[in-house]
Amino acid sequence: MLLPQSDWNGLRGETVEHLSRLIRIDTTNPPGNEMVLARDLEQTLRAAGIETHLFEPVADRAALVARLRAPHPTSAPVLLLAHMDVVGVAREAWTTNPFGGDVVDGYVYGRGAIDDKGMLTVNMMTLLLLRRLLTGGRHELTRDVVLVATSDEEAGGTIGTEWLIENHPELMRAEFALNEGGRIRVVDGRPLYAAIQCAEKVSNVVRVTATGPGGHASVPLPGNPVARLARAVSVISDHREPVVLLPTTRGFLAGLAEVWPHAAERTAMSDLASDDAARRDRGARTLSATPLFDAILRTGISATMLDAGVRHNVIPTEASAVLSVRTLPGESIDSVVGRLRDVVNDPAVHFEVTHRGHDAPPSDAGSAAFAAIRDSLHEIDPSIAAVPYLSTGATESAFLRRWGVPTYGILPFPLTMDDETRMHGHDERVPIEALEFALRLISGFVARLAIREFGLPRS
Ligand SMILES: [Zn+2]
Repeated sequence: MLLPQSDWNGLRGETVEHLSRLIRIDTTNPPGNEMVLARDLEQTLRAAGIETHLFEPVADRAALVARLRAPHPTSAPVLLLAHMDVVGVAREAWTTNPFGGDVVDGYVYGRGAIDDKGMLTVNMMTLLLLRRLLTGGRHELTRDVVLVATSDEEAGGTIGTEWLIENHPELMRAEFALNEGGRIRVVDGRPLYAAIQCAEKVSNVVRVTATGPGGHASVPLPGNPVARLARAVSVISDHREPVVLLPTTRGFLAGLAEVWPHAAERTAMSDLASDDAARRDRGARTLSATPLFDAILRTGISATMLDAGVRHNVIPTEASAVLSVRTLPGESIDSVVGRLRDVVNDPAVHFEVTHRGHDAPPSDAGSAAFAAIRDSLHEIDPSIAAVPYLSTGATESAFLRRWGVPTYGILPFPLTMDDETRMHGHDERVPIEALEFALRLISGFVARLAIREFGLPRS
């Protein structure tokens, strides 16, 4: 749809060059130092005549907003988001220079190649491509197209998307946004499905504290808080929250059932997506056996930290554990804690919610933006199943969704499981083929939402 006459060979080379350069700018967070990278992006965009706004929320950290303006907009803008910071590296475990941006055997290597400098590069290339298209005089934008590059995503900071919404809402107002957060999984050499993140679980922290009589360890005491806590943690880890099938998950399972290679799981997916309660129970039992599926079906509780005692011969008066509680959207953390209190059933064990995550409404899988992603995918490869997805991890998209901007999460690169697990790991890399795929996908998405060709009715 967009640029059928495009020189994809040339564009691929240009994309690789930009990505390698961005990888060479070390934005390991902490400290981040994203301003250097933001200035580089700004320079490239400005050289193409694209409007930019560069902010410094705190010293050396940056927020960049670039905008292609529609002459007579008929709809609110579409946003393309990506973060500039990356997580640290264990250099000795890499076989390549993590900040070299080297091209080896058809891959670009380096920290950030898939999280998130790859998408950042493709977003920027999309703006450059649109700019060139508009210069041709045969097309015009029907809405503004906005690129947003943020800092401190990896440290969960507040100077990224949240900061921009609070401080420059006029630049962030949009009808739709596209961010990281989903995946396109390659199985047996071809992209099988694209999981488009429409909702995410909410990350909460709960502290469980057992109290009891302290004393010298030479006299064992009933009600020892270490033992009480151990029992409570054991009961909690056996407890399962109820299965709740949200519309996003139902759509995910129904879509995945069409292409999933394993027969038993495929049947379970159709069962779960059905209206028959008995089939749903059966499906839930089968899928729950796989931790990744189980995590999207219910609120999940993981014990992550323990704290008790100061000496081997002293019984402490207190022992505590930290639970990471990932609630399904719409689920109340207080209700979950109420159920935990009931199953533990020990008046000497106390629960405290020490961090409450931000709940956000799901983005509609029936929207024009979702359709634009799906149609753009199918233009590249009609066999890919495009499914809505509830991610188990939290992303910055929650801020936009809560603010009323439906936001869709994709990782626009078709990746094998092996390549995907290099995210935050060693030898992170992106296939050059996947970079081209991503550019076709994102430029196609934007074209469907924001481009009108003169003489043709808007599709
Ligand atoms: Zn990321």
